[in-house]
Amino acid sequence: MNTRDTSLQILQQVFGYSSYRQPQQQIIDTLVRGEDALVLMPTGGGKSLCYQIPALLRSGVGIVISPLIALMQDQVAALRQAGVAAGALNSALSAEEDARMRTLLRNGELQLLYVAPERLMTSGFQSLLQQIDIALFAIDEAHCVSQWGHDFRPEYIQLSALHENFPGVPRVALTATADELTRREIIQRLKLERARHFISGFDRPNIRYRVSDDSSNARQQLLRFIQLNYAQQAGIVYCLSRRKVEDTAIWLQKQGIQALPYHAGMSQQDRANHQDRFLREDGVVMVATIAFGMGIDKPDVRFVVHMNLPKSLEAYYQETGRAGRDGEPAEALLFYNLQDVITLRQFVEQSDADELHKRIETQKLERMLGYCELTSCRRQALLAYFGDVQKEACGNCDTCLNPPETWDGTVAAQKALSCVHHTGQRFGVNYLIDVLLGKNNERIQRFGHDRVSTFGIGTELDQKQWRSLFRQLIAQGYLAVDQEGHGGLRLSESCRPLLRGEVRLQLRRLQKEKSGKLRKQRT
Ligand code: ADP
Ligand code: ZN
Repeated sequence: MNTRDTSLQILQQVFGYSSYRQPQQQIIDTLVRGEDALVLMPTGGGKSLCYQIPALLRSGVGIVISPLIALMQDQVAALRQAGVAAGALNSALSAEEDARMRTLLRNGELQLLYVAPERLMTSGFQSLLQQIDIALFAIDEAHCVSQWGHDFRPEYIQLSALHENFPGVPRVALTATADELTRREIIQRLKLERARHFISGFDRPNIRYRVSDDSSNARQQLLRFIQLNYAQQAGIVYCLSRRKVEDTAIWLQKQGIQALPYHAGMSQQDRANHQDRFLREDGVVMVATIAFGMGIDKPDVRFVVHMNLPKSLEAYYQETGRAGRDGEPAEALLFYNLQDVITLRQFVEQSDADELHKRIETQKLERMLGYCELTSCRRQALLAYFGDVQKEACGNCDTCLNPPETWDGTVAAQKALSCVHHTGQRFGVNYLIDVLLGKNNERIQRFGHDRVSTFGIGTELDQKQWRSLFRQLIAQGYLAVDQEGHGGLRLSESCRPLLRGEVRLQLRRLQKEKSGKLRKQRT
């Protein structure tokens, strides 16, 4: 019998499943052949089998490195139930249990061993491993090696030594959260240059992605969105600040929506209570900061709304992924505006992270903005960010359903940039727009800006359109926001070719009037 048949037999007889999901079989083949693999699959995608089955197929014990003791225990219990000789080594063990586990390991009596990274890398354990037969190393939650990620664990850095200490043993790194940057870091730090990549399962076809670039009356839009499409249905509304969470929840309640607030500033008891009601009752709308959602598994969340811009596409993907777990149609709606861009940039600038870290955070934010301002399929862009390339546009996002109009904003952009220049590169958007529109207010007169050449040259656009244009100039890096927190804008080096007309700026037309947009779109 060839290994494929044997592997299928194990899948059916040990794990009780009839067939593999894509691309479990190929991953297993790769490891059985002794090659390395990098596996990106969302949570619930079925990563565990990808190393459990090859560990059973190869001789020796499969070593699984996992940072989460609770998950480790669950997996070991499930494997033992299925008749697999599995064990775990972590700080939860007593000295006797620890010694017993090591004896089993030395005697070759284990098929799978789960180890916390700090245990694995002790010299005692490394030399024990040198004496036994090892089937493979599986590095779970591999994004923990990324210094830029929020789950960074210094112990993971040392795992690069596995490659030197055990050159002949195949290694597989697995994670659910990996943008291109993190992926590159995993490969580099874990020495996985030769690993085959398997990226799959990130698409959530039942979620319709929508972005509204008009947040001037976002609350009203939110209310209409819920009333028209999702009355009495469960949803999550994310806000950036605790204050906005409170305000929005109270306001929705007054409008007759069953809304509850959730943020880290509330008492433990209130939070638990609201979470419980969200899970148990029908049609609760949770208005929350990003503190809410981790580990929440409610299948029938029909919508996730972001009242503010998330700080990265990973965050956005993770948060919107809480909608429609049951596979039924669900919707992700995002409102974004210039103020959020400025606020988030300032968060980054004012954090005490080092320069490189700040640059990376800024890049992530740029990608998020780029996503908002897309004129092509949102799902394609979102999946491409995770390395999952889709050939076809999805047909289930706002840009697919209502292709946006674009316009050549080059001349307007030149006027805006020139206005920034002539007013001394220190004023914020609202002021600059007043100058462009020729508003003769006291402040403008005081600074003498009613006499600059750009005063009143921008009447072809209205205030809203100018705001959108400035937003895109910032998003594309032509304008930089000052770091003192006043929102003052200055020209970046990169705006020269645009000023000279060597590059053109294609812009998304502002959604005309939103009334038509948020009408029920389902048929
Ligand atoms: P991940 O580690 O990617 O979050 P798991 O390995 O825990 O995901 O798998 C998620 C669920 O899918 C588990 O309940 C698992 O038993 C199930 N599963 C995995 N592979 C298959 C398969 N080929 N057929 C049926 N169910 C599967
Ligand atoms: Zn699309």
